[in-house]
Amino acid sequence: MNVCKRRKKYKNVDVFSIAKLEAINMNVPKEITTYCPKCREHQAHAVSLYKAGKRRALAKGERHHKREKKGYGGQKYPLQREFAKTTKKQTLRLKCKKCGYTRHKEGIRLRKLAIV
Ligand SMILES: [Zn+2]
Repeated sequence: MNVCKRRKKYKNVDVFSIAKLEAINMNVPKEITTYCPKCREHQAHAVSLYKAGKRRALAKGERHHKREKKGYGGQKYPLQREFAKTTKKQTLRLKCKKCGYTRHKEGIRLRKLAIV
């Protein structure tokens, strides 16, 4: 995509508004045929949306972080309070229907992703 051309197109609009205009809704099919690295050929894949797992409060890193944050001046890095972006990158989970091998496909910034 040529950003400069788009800036010319929307002359009086700032960069973030252009990003908002470009944020789109997308429909993804439930099943797609794509390359499976394990089968080494194209196979039918089931498509689902990846979501980060629940954080375990008793994991070593979590305990360490909690300990570090204790007391006066305990915050180790500035907390992000204002966000410039209004969308998130959507990651697709592709599961091979033949061998069950699962891999992720990182997507683009979308306002809404629907699996149909
Ligand atoms: Zn496979």
